Amino acid sequence: MDCFKIYGNEYVKDKLSSMITKDRMIPSILIYGESGLGKSEMAKYIAASLNCEKRTGSPCSQCRSCRMILHGNHPDVTYVVPSSKAGLYRVREDIRPIVSDAYISPNESGRKIYIINDAQKLNAECQNALLKVFEEPPGESVFILTADNKQSVLETILSRVFSFEMSRVSPEDAKKAVMNNGFDSQKAQEAQSAFPGNIGKQLDFLRGEDVFDSVQIARSITDAVCQKNEYELLKAYSQITDREMAQSVIDILLEILSSAVEIASGAKPCLCAYNEGAGKISGIAPASRIVSVCETLIDAKEKIQSYANLSVLTAVLAAETSKLQ
Ligand SMILES: [Zn+2]
Repeated sequence: MDCFKIYGNEYVKDKLSSMITKDRMIPSILIYGESGLGKSEMAKYIAASLNCEKRTGSPCSQCRSCRMILHGNHPDVTYVVPSSKAGLYRVREDIRPIVSDAYISPNESGRKIYIINDAQKLNAECQNALLKVFEEPPGESVFILTADNKQSVLETILSRVFSFEMSRVSPEDAKKAVMNNGFDSQKAQEAQSAFPGNIGKQLDFLRGEDVFDSVQIARSITDAVCQKNEYELLKAYSQITDREMAQSVIDILLEILSSAVEIASGAKPCLCAYNEGAGKISGIAPASRIVSVCETLIDAKEKIQSYANLSVLTAVLAAETSKLQ
């Protein structure tokens, strides 16, 4: 039987559950956090909690409303998707229609819910158009936004929504989730060491060759830096096959480097794809230098399309990374 599965993040579930059972007015909600943490699954879980016929504060997965949400065909749960070719939301086509619709009563009993994933793709005009429903909330409608970070959402919206950050889950929860998806405990272990606590990325890692390769490349780059081996560094970078892979390698490297900065500053490091490597980097470079390399990598990632070709990009990345030595 299908059912809603949300691992970890107990605080969020408890808080919402108590709001629902106490029949308090539910404000619009913003869920934020890095990709892979299950924000859109959480949005669906909240929609089901709000409309479950058993009204226990969490979804029963069995009633008519829960089943319709599980199958993606509940008439009062709308998934708003960006209509522009570039994958961005447009105010006239995507936002205004749902704002007007929010003031019309639900079809079924319960609430009308609008889920807007990737709120970082809403420009200021779209966000301002949404502001109306946050300022004068229609009684039966709830908007649920998800975003990779809070900074992409206007302050005027942030001050009117109930926002919470999704966390990485414990190794036990991650293992359970990965094994529920058909992988054995050995695979779960490998995935945990590559993407600690991030179930979405762990599953991508196990299902997709590209992510697996990106992790291996980022680890080889880290080793080459620690061994001060320019040849191995260039060789590792040369294994990147396209810009998408370059982006994913940079993301993994940035996590390793952030972890190294934390180790260098004596803080408890967050787990990353290569803890041992992060430890070694913290031993060869001062925190300030690691931070400055991180900034250059972020910059390169942002303008990744502007490099004439892949080899120019990887040469720049290799030169920057070697500054760690
Ligand atoms: Zn239910």
